[in-house]
Amino acid sequence: MKLNENYRELKESYLFSEVAKKVNAFQAANPDKKVIRMGIGDVTLPLCESVIKALHNAVDEMGRAETFRGYGPEQGYDFLRSAIKDHYAQNGVELDIDEIFVSDGAKSDIGNITDLFSKDNTVLIPDPVYPVYVDTNTMNGRKIIYMDGTAENGFLPMPDKNVKVDIIYLCSPNNPTGACYTKAQLEEWVEYALENNALILFDSAYESFVSDEGLPRSIYSVEDAKKCAIEFCSLSKTAGFTGLRCGYTIVPKTIESGGMRLNKMWLRRQTTKFNGVPYIVQRAACAVFGADGISETRRMVAHYKQNAQIIAKTMQETGTRFFGGINSPYIWFECPFGMDSWEFFDFMLEKIAVVGTPGAGFGKNGNNFFRLTAFNSKENTTEAMERFKTLC
Ligand code: PLP
Repeated sequence: MKLNENYRELKESYLFSEVAKKVNAFQAANPDKKVIRMGIGDVTLPLCESVIKALHNAVDEMGRAETFRGYGPEQGYDFLRSAIKDHYAQNGVELDIDEIFVSDGAKSDIGNITDLFSKDNTVLIPDPVYPVYVDTNTMNGRKIIYMDGTAENGFLPMPDKNVKVDIIYLCSPNNPTGACYTKAQLEEWVEYALENNALILFDSAYESFVSDEGLPRSIYSVEDAKKCAIEFCSLSKTAGFTGLRCGYTIVPKTIESGGMRLNKMWLRRQTTKFNGVPYIVQRAACAVFGADGISETRRMVAHYKQNAQIIAKTMQETGTRFFGGINSPYIWFECPFGMDSWEFFDFMLEKIAVVGTPGAGFGKNGNNFFRLTAFNSKENTTEAMERFKTLC
């Protein structure tokens, strides 16, 4: 047996375990203190009413011989793909139903898509960013080039014409920085990709947090993107599906290389290695796109966005430089007092019993930054920010 030696190159992912270890030790030493956790990127609100209703109905269908469903189409039922197609159409993007692939979440598809590409590709990944892009390409042994997200470029790195790559990862609104590309910036990326025969892998998991009318929620708001971009999206943050699991990936039929069509390859890959998302989950996902589902999930997102505003206002009041928080559930701020992100983690936990995520966990450019999330109750967020003010 020979193992995949590339796994040796993976960095130990100790971020969340280290955070948990430190918080547990603090709580054990200070049993009376209420620790407020603002580090985890998981939702806190329960599923909305129309989703629960759809789940119940689908469960009942599964219990009757006439409506029972076994294996479904691997790429998703047409009722859900049509709802996703309509969702895109409402945002001005026309898709063919065959370009939509339903999955059990964006993480799986982001990892699995690497099956389609040669090991020789050079990959361009922002730093800081969601660590899955780096790890999945490291597992495949691909060469990774990093592009710096810094305070100077607003954590929105732009193409460098002198750097030639084959695959580009973009995440907007970004995890962890909350930064969001404008349409003009995405146009530059699409232009770069077309000039270099490169592919953009666009992660729009947080698209539902975009409220500025002028900002794109999909890379396909740039016309030529259908020639060079795959888009991953998820109901995890839009509708609280982190535990239920459902996402979707758009693979346009217009992308090909060397006579091979990506859409056809992805269909082949999915039908070979994946047996689809449970029927009841797809019914629940479909409810998200119905009239009631839209208003209920918008209220959920609005709740988180209100928390983000509370955090952002505190950052302004305390003169702390920050990014995100407007079109994103994440606030990314510069650690005060010149501390690095782990020092600040310890300091904040010790002094005010508030937990966040050290920016170092998202790449070297996060060393002096810190991520807080809006996934919490309004009461906790307000209390945490009152405590934060006492720090500064
Ligand atoms: N993409 C980004 C940028 C994320 O932050 C996350 C989850 O935190 C995902 C994808 C994964 O989403 P899913 O729950 O659909 O797998």
